[in-house]
Amino acid sequence: EEGRREKVAIRSYKSGEDEEHLERLKIIDQLKAALNQEDQLFMVYQPKLNLKNGNVEKVESLIRWQKPDGKWVSPEVFIGLAEQAGLIVEITQWVVKTVITQMRAWQKQKISTKVSINISAQDILHPDFIYSIIKHLEANKLDPQSITLEITERDLMENEQEGAQRLHALKDAGFDLAVDDYGIGQSSLGKLKKLPIDELKIDKSFILKLDQSEADQVIVQSTIQLGHNLGLHVVAEGVENQATQDILHRMGCDYIQGFYFCRPITSDEFISWLKNYEDNRKPN
Ligand code: C2E
Ligand code: MG
Ligand code: MG
Ligand code: MG
Repeated sequence: EEGRREKVAIRSYKSGEDEEHLERLKIIDQLKAALNQEDQLFMVYQPKLNLKNGNVEKVESLIRWQKPDGKWVSPEVFIGLAEQAGLIVEITQWVVKTVITQMRAWQKQKISTKVSINISAQDILHPDFIYSIIKHLEANKLDPQSITLEITERDLMENEQEGAQRLHALKDAGFDLAVDDYGIGQSSLGKLKKLPIDELKIDKSFILKLDQSEADQVIVQSTIQLGHNLGLHVVAEGVENQATQDILHRMGCDYIQGFYFCRPITSDEFISWLKNYEDNRKPN
């Protein structure tokens, strides 16, 4: 049994696992370099629509990476690698600083949209996290109330005990907290209820085909109800068409986010997009 496992391991190692390993190391090295260069990494922003009043009160910030050779690396790929390599705290530092500086610039143009920032378990558990984010906010005359921190359901369940303490500290400091990618993790209701969460983001795998799937509709309807029963705002991510938006509106979902309403866009694009949106809105 032992010998067989060894053979299998050696065979799969030879058939490309070492190449994959090297590829991962290469990406990590390139990412470290990118963090010190300023022009490879940048942030984009995706507006969330308040379905109840048609307002755009919030955007989600999302990181982008274009390498010097012109190739894009998806955050789905490099954020996970950065977590494994212990590089995520440094990336989040860069994101926090960039986003808050951006918000200050928006404020000077009378744009006071709240911004959400995606963070990992390692960020929450890092002893300096709260201090450093508050330091950036103060330097830019902004309040924690203007920031929502998005944490995936999976990350919430990592290091539960200590994680919960940190979440309470963040909540006490004035930050809003969101559970991201809800529905694909393992969290139980009992655990969720004890955390100081404000927002539930339903994972896009339940939303992308909502207009065609009765099963997804059952799941989403009950998740919205669950969220509301816990006193949370519910956001649906991955809304790609009007039919899905209409269904979510009927179900009482509070916010939507998706390519149909607006793709993630640069700060400059967001400024003109928002102006255009406000100008063309019918009064409510
Ligand atoms: P997420 O936080 O769940 O972000 C939502 C993802 O869904 C984004 O992918 C967004 O572009 C995408 N999306 C939005 N609307 C639609 C839609 O209608 N259809 C489809 N198919 N997709 C839609 P993105 O930007 O590629 O980011 C992927 C994930 O990478 C994020 O998922 C988040 O987990 C992570 N990530 C992105 N930016 C950051 C960051 O600054 N920090 C950290 N720690 N993680 C980040
Ligand atoms: Mg998110
Ligand atoms: Mg999500
Ligand atoms: Mg996601």
